[in-house]
Amino acid sequence: MGEFDLIRRFFQRPAAAGVEVGVGDDCAVLVPTPGARWLVSSDMLVEGRHFLSTVDPARLGHKALAVNLSDLAACGATPRGFTLALALPRADEAWLAGFAQGLWALADASGIPLIGGDTTQGPLNLCITVFGEAPPGQALLRSGARVGDEIWVSGRLGDARLALEVFRGRMALAGEAFEQVRVAMELPTPRLTLGQALRGVATAVLDISDGLLGDLGHLLAASGVGATLELAALPRSAVLAAQPLALQQECLLAGGDDYELVFTAPPGARLPDVGVPLTRIGRIEAAPGLRVVDARGERVDHGLRSFDHFQS
Ligand code: ADP
Ligand code: MG
Repeated sequence: MGEFDLIRRFFQRPAAAGVEVGVGDDCAVLVPTPGARWLVSSDMLVEGRHFLSTVDPARLGHKALAVNLSDLAACGATPRGFTLALALPRADEAWLAGFAQGLWALADASGIPLIGGDTTQGPLNLCITVFGEAPPGQALLRSGARVGDEIWVSGRLGDARLALEVFRGRMALAGEAFEQVRVAMELPTPRLTLGQALRGVATAVLDISDGLLGDLGHLLAASGVGATLELAALPRSAVLAAQPLALQQECLLAGGDDYELVFTAPPGARLPDVGVPLTRIGRIEAAPGLRVVDARGERVDHGLRSFDHFQS
């Protein structure tokens, strides 16, 4: 199977609505919604760094797109198209079929067409760029949090990190519990519907990819505010809640790979009900910095920091 057979077999489909030219020419040609703003984001997944070589290819296809859609979700964007740049050690048909199945399943469920890409031989590496749209002035940014706003998070935190600890051999979990946290790690759900519903409601939003503390820290810095976070309020699965407290803290505060949305909104704001649980986890304050407190309001000295590719 040559490069172009591979593209045709696994990554080419008839052009979708809003796409004048898709895969097959030098550029894709998209039809913008009049007046809308483009929102663009890229995320790269490198074997051994972002995923294990043993991961199921269908789950990898899902995750490669999911982490990118999560960025569109964080900005309240409507998905319009994505490109896929692939480096593959070899053209392994079974692997490609699995990867493409996972990728297309999430693309179809999210209404986002694949509009182009690049395919080359090399160490396994996946880079997706997503294109989305939002009405003028309605993209959700990190910079809008105001003193007095409440801080909310979607879904649950920490399970993906717990699964990673098991893969690293640092702990063990029984079959069903492991499968549950493994799904959180390998099949994250991008919160696209929630993100769009937060337009005009949330004052600031971001998605958690590198751990709550660090990512919320970015939002606070961009907004020029501080915050207090209630450790006991952080939503967690029964599996995580059964772990020692120090491990729970590490997974909840510095875990990463959560792909949930953190957002701020004024007290009393009418939050959207899109079937995703929302939990109030803290409050925006004028004093700079991020303070974590326990159920009695006492400062927690966690000593944790977020993931940084060049400082770990
Ligand atoms: P060019 O040489 O003009 O860069 P390529 O030969 O790399 O084009 O790719 C041919 C066509 O296939 C282009 O339309 C490109 O966008 C598309 N393409 C290449 N790789 C992929 C891929 N992995 N997924 C989707 N489309 C792809
Ligand atoms: Mg090319």
